[in-house]
Amino acid sequence: MQWTDLKAALLSTGSASLSGEPAEQFIARSSAGPGAGGSGAVFFARGGHRVKLALDPLSRIEIVHRGNGVADLCYEGTLTRGRLLEPGFHCPDQAFITVTGSCIFSCRYCTVPRLGGRRKTIEEIMEMVGSVRDRIGAISITSGVLESIEEEESYVLEVVKHLRVFDLPLGVSIYPTATTPDSLKELGVAEVKFNLEVATPGLFAKMCPGLDYDRLWQVLDRSVKLFGKNRVFSNVIVGLGETDAELETCIEKLTSLGVIPVLRPLNPVAERAGTPRPSAERLKKIFDIHARALATAGLDPRLAVTMCTSCTGCDLVPGRDS
Ligand code: SF4
Repeated sequence: MQWTDLKAALLSTGSASLSGEPAEQFIARSSAGPGAGGSGAVFFARGGHRVKLALDPLSRIEIVHRGNGVADLCYEGTLTRGRLLEPGFHCPDQAFITVTGSCIFSCRYCTVPRLGGRRKTIEEIMEMVGSVRDRIGAISITSGVLESIEEEESYVLEVVKHLRVFDLPLGVSIYPTATTPDSLKELGVAEVKFNLEVATPGLFAKMCPGLDYDRLWQVLDRSVKLFGKNRVFSNVIVGLGETDAELETCIEKLTSLGVIPVLRPLNPVAERAGTPRPSAERLKKIFDIHARALATAGLDPRLAVTMCTSCTGCDLVPGRDS
C-alpha cells in the first residue's frame, strides 16, 4: 500500500492497540492541544515516514512490538513492518514543550481547559530540554493561556530567552498579541506557528469564543514579512463542519500569504466528542488540494525544522508524505 493511502487511513482512525514486548520508552504523553491528557500515543515509522497514533486497546489497528523498536502494524489484514520511534519530549527529534497546561479560553474541540494543568517553571523547562539534548535537533514551545494573552506572551518570551543557550532552532506556537512575531524575531526564533484552527470566520466564532480571527490573519501576514517563506505555519482542523470548498479557500489564502497550512484531522474530544473523524478519502482529497496550493505559492514543507511540519506525526504533509 502506498504510504499516503496508508497514512490517510491511519489518521482517519487515529488510534492503535499496542501489544508484544514492553514499549514504555516509545510511548509519548501529551499535555497540549486537542489530544492532551489521553493515555499516550506511539510514533510508527516506515522508511522515512511516520504517523502518530493514540493508544486504544479497542482500536481496529494493531501494533505489535517485536522488541528493540521493531514493530508490525496490522491494518485490514495487511501487515506493515516498521519501527517505533522514541519521543524526545512529546515527539521524536524535538523537545516540544507545553509551557502552560491550562487555558482561560474554551475552544470547543480542545481538552486543555478541562485538564487544569499548571505552568512549568523555567528551571523545569531547562532541565527537560537538557535531559534530551543529545537526541533532538530542535526545540518547540507551545502554551495555553494562564491569566491573559499578554501575560502568557511575556512568560513565553522569558522561556525563549533562556532556551537560546542550547543553540538549537526554536519554534514557537502561542496565541499571539499583535506584536508577538516581532518579539519572537528579535529573540532569534527560527519558525512560528499561529493557529487559525478553523477554516471560516463563522465557524471560528462558534468554536473559539473570545478569540480574534482577524488578529490571527494579521499576525500571520506580519510573520511572513519577518521570518520569510517556509518559516510560518498555521494549523487548520479538518472536520469541524467546514466544506471542502471552504477549506480550499482557506488553504489558498494562507499559501498566497506565504504561510504553510498544517491540516490537522479532527480529534473528536471535548465538546466535539462523538463527531466523526474525517474519512481517509477526504484527507486524501484535501492533501491533493494542499499540495497544489503549496506548489503554486512556491512553498516547501520539507524545509521546516521545528514543530508539526517537521514532525509530520499527526498530519499528511505534502513533500514529506508524498
Ligand atoms: S505533528 Fe505536531 S502535534 Fe503531532 S506529534 Fe508532531 S509535533 Fe506533536
